[in-house]
Amino acid sequence: MSSRDPRYDILFEPVQIGPVMMKNRFYVAPHADSFGMSKIDEMIAYRRARAEGGWGAVCTGETMIHETSDHAPFICTRISSDSFIEPLSRLTSAIHEYDSLAGIELAHVGSSCPAWSFREHPIAPSAQFPRLYNNPVAARKMDKKDIQNFRKWHRDAAIRAKKAGFDIIYAYCSHDLSLLQDFLLQSTNKRNDEYGGAFENRLRLLKEVLSDLKDTVGDSCAIALRFAVEDRRPGSDLTAQGEGRRVVEALADIPDLWDVNVSDWGWDSGSSRFFEEGAQEPFIKFVKQVTNKPVVGVGRFTSPDAMVSQIRRGNLDIIGAARPSIADPFLPIKIDSGNIESIRECIGCNVCAGEVMNNTAIRCTQNPSVGEEFRRNWHPEHVPPAEDGSKSILIVGGGPAGLEAALTLGKRGYQVSIADAGNEWGGRLVKERRMPGLSAWGRVVDYRVEQLQVMPNVQMFLASSLTANDVEGFEADHVIVATGATWRLDGSGRSHDKPIPGWENENVCSPDKILDGDLPKGHVVVYDDDYYYMATVIVDKLVEAGCKVSYITTAPSPSPWTFNTLEQEHIVRSMVEANVDIRVGTSISRVEESSVHITREYSVTGVDLPVDGLVLVTGQLANDSLYYDLLKKHESGTIRSLQRIGDCVSPALIAQATHDGRLAGMNY
Ligand code: ADP
Ligand code: SF4
Repeated sequence: MSSRDPRYDILFEPVQIGPVMMKNRFYVAPHADSFGMSKIDEMIAYRRARAEGGWGAVCTGETMIHETSDHAPFICTRISSDSFIEPLSRLTSAIHEYDSLAGIELAHVGSSCPAWSFREHPIAPSAQFPRLYNNPVAARKMDKKDIQNFRKWHRDAAIRAKKAGFDIIYAYCSHDLSLLQDFLLQSTNKRNDEYGGAFENRLRLLKEVLSDLKDTVGDSCAIALRFAVEDRRPGSDLTAQGEGRRVVEALADIPDLWDVNVSDWGWDSGSSRFFEEGAQEPFIKFVKQVTNKPVVGVGRFTSPDAMVSQIRRGNLDIIGAARPSIADPFLPIKIDSGNIESIRECIGCNVCAGEVMNNTAIRCTQNPSVGEEFRRNWHPEHVPPAEDGSKSILIVGGGPAGLEAALTLGKRGYQVSIADAGNEWGGRLVKERRMPGLSAWGRVVDYRVEQLQVMPNVQMFLASSLTANDVEGFEADHVIVATGATWRLDGSGRSHDKPIPGWENENVCSPDKILDGDLPKGHVVVYDDDYYYMATVIVDKLVEAGCKVSYITTAPSPSPWTFNTLEQEHIVRSMVEANVDIRVGTSISRVEESSVHITREYSVTGVDLPVDGLVLVTGQLANDSLYYDLLKKHESGTIRSLQRIGDCVSPALIAQATHDGRLAGMNY
């Protein structure tokens, strides 16, 4: 067993946070999981895994203090009545089992409240137009009594949190999802009493709430403030040089812990396509110069060297993480035990956020056990041993699904062979990781291949395109087919139940040709009927190559699924900056030799757009022919046991492929 590199000792120093001591500098920052109180066992198992993995503190996500803070349809934890003390105390007990501190993010979402569940009217510093989720619900202005109530809800919630056993209790002023931030920002606070207008007035409520929390529970609980020092959205009045800094100066030593970030969520949890590890550093680094209290921040930190550097350079005292802890709950233990090469690094794809945005429980591309800790009893690191380790398993296809199946079965002790037709492991990711902004996605492959290569019970064969007869000749006890999918060439898909007339023209291609590096020239239309990342990544690639690009989508907004991954705003901005001609709600009804015929939604007539090339990003087809050939052999008894997984069942997210791989590996 290797031991910790002394360079990382600093990460394992204890940190005093007000009245409580954290055993090391690893901190699971508050983050949404979409379990809510109705799936509290799932939530406890999910957070417990992070405590088990060595994090010094594990926090809840937004926990609503009152029914006027109603984030439905989004699913959150609640502490708005005494009935929630018991379930939440089961959470703190689970976290305490591993000597971790339990934190709770008390939240009131203010004017960002769609008010669907409880049918209270949303409240705000001043009357607000509906702001989020296209909901036709405006917030009403709070009067003095409301402000007193709001403070009391915080005090009551803090007392409940203390009773439930929490060690760290938050006030929340971030992400454009907080009533406290509504009061702070000039854009949302138009009051002209002592809670509005001048900076000191807009700050008043935050200061009062912090003091209330300290007075109520501060004797034994640390009081943390989650604060966005800068609102990165264009046009915002909150900047790290301006009022963001003034807030930290004004409140410097009031909270026991400063948890600082940038706002809104799409800038805080920036995807790797647009943000590097540690991207918030320029905004938050001033905080430690202003306060004597410990400072925690996030930055998709997966490298222990980057973490140490943050501390040594005086930017942070504590390394906060949501996504790195989602992808690898055992990250601290791996650093502590000198196993940094086995860290399952977050790829920054934001599929975890995507699930939360869709009100489905959290999941992760890299870590298929996420969200399955309770339901399937999956552990992030451990797998049950093989029932019979002499059994042989052949996996055909070395993409995310095949690699994860191989890893799970290999760890369990089976005799595993994995073959791929290509010259490199990774399936779809061999090429996708080379597209603009997607290099970090290659970690899905590297993490698995590095481990498989040293397993004595795993054999790996590249450049091995297997036929059904080859597979039969292998005489494996079990065969798993993971042969992936191929982009359609004919344009049929979501909006076209038939091929698009003219798709056979020479100027038309599918994403696979672009992924192969065979790029068209001149004016190219990228047609997005897929709605996720592929079309706009191709746009980036073509722009880089000097093409004039038109992006046409049948959707009402560009790349709509990336709204869920918090990327849409960044994608649109980058296309606008690159002078891409963007046309939404538009379909292509036929292709000519040097033009495409396009029609706006609801209009009867279309126009011809002259183009040199067209990339049809519409849909994928499963590569399932090998599977069906093998099925015949299975039915005739020459293949003992057979299944298929991943995109060759039906094309989906990479997260689905890794999940399928884990499921196949666990169920054998
Ligand atoms: P998934 O996301 O489901 O893992 P991918 O498309 O990423 O699917 O990976 C599928 C892999 O299967 C590709 O690398 C491809 O080369 C490989 N493959 C497809 N057909 C065969 C075959 N007959 N023999 C070996 N490998 C194959
Ligand atoms: Fe990271 Fe993607 Fe997993 Fe989220 S889903 S934790 S971004 S790898």
